[in-house]
Amino acid sequence: MQDFSHIGDRYCRRVIAKVEPLTRARALRGPFDYRLPESMAGVRVGSIVVVPFGRRRSVGVVVGLAEQSEVAAERLVEPISVMETDVPPDLIELGLRVAQEYVSTPARGLALVLPPGTGTGATSRTRSRRRLAATLTAAGQDAAADGAGLGPRQVAALQALREGPLAVAGLMEATGASHSTLRTLEGRGLVELAKAEERRRPEVRRVGAPSPAGRALTPAQNAALAEVLARLDAPEGSERRVLLHGVTGSGKTEVYLHAVAAVLERGLTAIVLVPEIGLTPQTASRFADRFGDTVAILHSGLSDGERYDEWLRLRRGQATVCVGPRSAVFAPLSDLGLIVIDEEHDPSYKQDGDPRYDARRVAELRAEASGAVLLAGSATPRPESWHRLDRISIPERVDGRPMPPVEILGMAPVESALHPTTRDALEQVRDQGGKAIVLLNRRGWSNFISCRGCARVWECPNCDVALVLHRAAGRVSCHHCGHSERVPERCPDCGSVSVARHGAGTERLEGELSQILDPLPVLRLDSDSGAGRGAGARILERFDALEAGVLVGTQMVAKGHDFPDVTLGVVIDADSTLRFPDFRAEERTFALVAQLAGRTGRGGSGGRVLVQALDAAAPCLAHASAHDAPGFLADELGRREALAYPPYADLVRVVCASPDGGPERRAIDSIVAAVRAGAPTGLTVSGPAALFRLKGRERAQALFRSRDRAEMVRQVRVAVEAAAADSGNRGVVFSVDVDPQ
Ligand code: ADP
Ligand code: ZN
Ligand code: ZN
Repeated sequence: MQDFSHIGDRYCRRVIAKVEPLTRARALRGPFDYRLPESMAGVRVGSIVVVPFGRRRSVGVVVGLAEQSEVAAERLVEPISVMETDVPPDLIELGLRVAQEYVSTPARGLALVLPPGTGTGATSRTRSRRRLAATLTAAGQDAAADGAGLGPRQVAALQALREGPLAVAGLMEATGASHSTLRTLEGRGLVELAKAEERRRPEVRRVGAPSPAGRALTPAQNAALAEVLARLDAPEGSERRVLLHGVTGSGKTEVYLHAVAAVLERGLTAIVLVPEIGLTPQTASRFADRFGDTVAILHSGLSDGERYDEWLRLRRGQATVCVGPRSAVFAPLSDLGLIVIDEEHDPSYKQDGDPRYDARRVAELRAEASGAVLLAGSATPRPESWHRLDRISIPERVDGRPMPPVEILGMAPVESALHPTTRDALEQVRDQGGKAIVLLNRRGWSNFISCRGCARVWECPNCDVALVLHRAAGRVSCHHCGHSERVPERCPDCGSVSVARHGAGTERLEGELSQILDPLPVLRLDSDSGAGRGAGARILERFDALEAGVLVGTQMVAKGHDFPDVTLGVVIDADSTLRFPDFRAEERTFALVAQLAGRTGRGGSGGRVLVQALDAAAPCLAHASAHDAPGFLADELGRREALAYPPYADLVRVVCASPDGGPERRAIDSIVAAVRAGAPTGLTVSGPAALFRLKGRERAQALFRSRDRAEMVRQVRVAVEAAAADSGNRGVVFSVDVDPQ
């Protein structure tokens, strides 16, 4: 390329924008060049534009600028328009990096960092809301005070405006003033009417007691905070990642709050990642209480407009702290000083759809790029974090409250769900007051139903799995694809009207407990009862407000809730997760039991935890009952090392799916062959193997494993792109999962 630097700035304006269009196609190779007219001189990396693309229009992101294009000048076209806001350039880089690391497309990576509601179509875009607003003038201030020569409605309107400008619609409603009243006031120079941006303000749910500001930290909290601040103020190039291992109830949130305050004092900004705001409303509201409007809280309950406005407040620096679930890792903050990952063990940090990114890893990438501190916290850290990160620990609960004793109750494989000891303990709660949380990680009434006449099992027509009975709804449903049908009255095969129900889920347990414990209220929290905006938070609020009661549910009840009056925790069928062939089964089971125990005995009245299991001798249960995370992690890391599982090797899973069996198998075979051919030494492959049919598609998968992550990802990317481009694989859906869960 020619060097124009000697000509001076005026003549070498960067006139070519390199634009990545937000299309869904995997095969497309961007970015594409567009010529910038004089009127778009302000366009820079991160600008969002609407461009002509083929015969259509597309929203696109500017990922680079250049002085010249390889494309012939007469073939270059101009963007149609530029959107009102843009994305910081470092986030553009992050979006593209995520696309690379998770074997996705640039468009999908970039979509993660764009303002919410930026549709791919050229029309479906969210914008700021502008409304007519009234502001009091200086003359209006005086008139509001004496009211001379004004009617009562006029005075009311002026007085309402003394606190600051108001939207005209709201002002009219509040004071009864009409449009013409306001126009008259405007004509007399008492108010000004003009369109102004109006913020759509999300509601923050408050659950439980706030965390009062200014309370003294415990010595252990102080020591932890000091470690975090040392990393914040360390010279450039220092290690800034740290794991806060604090037992449940050790006051980790207070450490995060102080660390964020220190970051703000230094003129920097912070991101706080939480698992799911609907289920952990307490943490979010503690931040809102402490920092007010400085905090933008993003969650799935927001409208598109609210989400867009919160995003804009962050982008403009009006909000300097962002609290939210995994997607908040892409918050448009500049001068980032800290990323907190609360409950870092929580599986919800992993995204389910393409790109299947892990917010914990993205947080590390972003913290590293911006020189920010990464603070991951948990009572049950992941083996990966334990192995790789510096550690700070808080080994005791705030105020030295003891950890609750945990008893493991061996169960015989029979139908009855409750051990006599559990039953006694629950009855004691009913008779003496208090609250209990009961965890059973299976929703619905029973796992599957079968015909007593011919043993037919009711299965999903789209997936090779049994349908689960939901009795209240009168339906049997597939938990994989959402298929649901009425509970059968007779068997279509043999005509028998006798149906057997097997196993028990939360719905059945709720019913049984309500009967046994009557009149004690029993609430249920799972993805059936907690579906819909704010439904989960409402159930938690109701439980919090109860004098005494029981909360039954799936893993949702074991999130970081802080209810001081829970005296009994129960886990039913604790080792059910161990019976699945998954290398994370131990980790999951340990975390679930330890976290449930952590909800118990947080107040002055002590607590007790009962764990029912078929295999009462399972080592991870023994560690959980001793509240011994370090012991569990040492064992688990030994096992992982011996088997070459993460963190000692990385995994990539590729799944091919097709509606009629055959093509998916050929596609996966070709991918495995290609990766094998180009493979670095030390890469191993499990499979290809068939998976159960899902959503009407036959599936086959292969699992790659290597210590050389970057090379493995590169090989898989090349192989998958080649297979996707092969016309012989038309109709095959490819999905790549780096670090599968
Ligand atoms: P964790 O997240 O570590 O499980 P939390 O942050 O929920 O623990 O804190 C547990 C409880 O202790 C909360 O009710 C919190 O308000 C309280 N707490 C935290 N720090 C202090 C402190 N320094 N003094 C008194 N109470 C505290
Ligand atoms: Zn039958
Ligand atoms: Zn299904």
